Amino acid sequence: MASLRSVAKRLEGKVALITGGASGIGESTTRMFVEHGAKVLVADIQDELGQSLCKQLGSPESVSYTHCDVTSESYIQNAVDTAVSRYGKLDIMFNNAGIAGEAEPMLIASSLHDFKRVFDVNVLGGFLGAKHAARVMIPAKKGCILFTASIVSKISMGLSHAYTTSKHAVVGLTENLAVELGEYGIRVNCISPYAIVTPLFQKTSGVSKKEKVEEILSAAGVLEGAILEPSDIAQAALFLASDDAKYISKWRQLTCGWRL
Ligand code: NAD
Repeated sequence: MASLRSVAKRLEGKVALITGGASGIGESTTRMFVEHGAKVLVADIQDELGQSLCKQLGSPESVSYTHCDVTSESYIQNAVDTAVSRYGKLDIMFNNAGIAGEAEPMLIASSLHDFKRVFDVNVLGGFLGAKHAARVMIPAKKGCILFTASIVSKISMGLSHAYTTSKHAVVGLTENLAVELGEYGIRVNCISPYAIVTPLFQKTSGVSKKEKVEEILSAAGVLEGAILEPSDIAQAALFLASDDAKYISKWRQLTCGWRL
């Protein structure tokens, strides 16, 4: 019975920090990581949502929240230090926080402010997360750094230039970091999801009817009848964060979608 339990709990003994962990993909990953025995620090700017999620999932000894704007180095530094002081170490850094920015696909109508903001959250935020995670993972000679990229880092889907190029940058960062940090036993990977109906998607697309959109996305996807959900991305993160993926690094995993 005990050995079955340890097989089922794939992150037992590990400590994870999840940015953007209060909503959508991050929320689902937080739930799954806790379920699999990890101690999790959720870092987000949606304090109420993050705090109530943690309260729902367990005691502060196993899951807790910290306010962290990923565009600020001092917040990221503090989040990493909090994970270490609260839970003793950091094994998994999931740089997942992201924004879509304005839904303006036309170059001439794009605003400079929006472009910079999207890059600050999606690229600088991930860079800072990786930098401070590496600071504590390098001496430990192990660790796992994950990013959420997007299918748009591979296929143009007519989204804004800011969002599309920011997700290309995330893939570039993953590959560059994997080479440098591999020397210290740190694995670096990204997940590139197809579209999922989360608050981010709903804000950008302006659609509120979840089921209708899921039907359209599913019809455009490769897998007949399958609907991509946040928990599917959480499953990919769980695999990549677990010891099952001990020889997987520099991987830009795509979740299947879009018939191109
Ligand atoms: P979401 O809006 O539900 O979650 C994003 C989270 O990031 C939110 O909790 C938000 O508060 C947080 N966040 C935003 N700015 C932040 C900041 N400055 N500091 C800290 N946290 C911040 O959306 P989601 O779809 O779950 O998005 C998660 C990631 O998945 C993003 O990187 C997004 O680009 C990526 N992604 C989403 C889709 C999709 O279709 N939903 C597809 C591919 C990739």
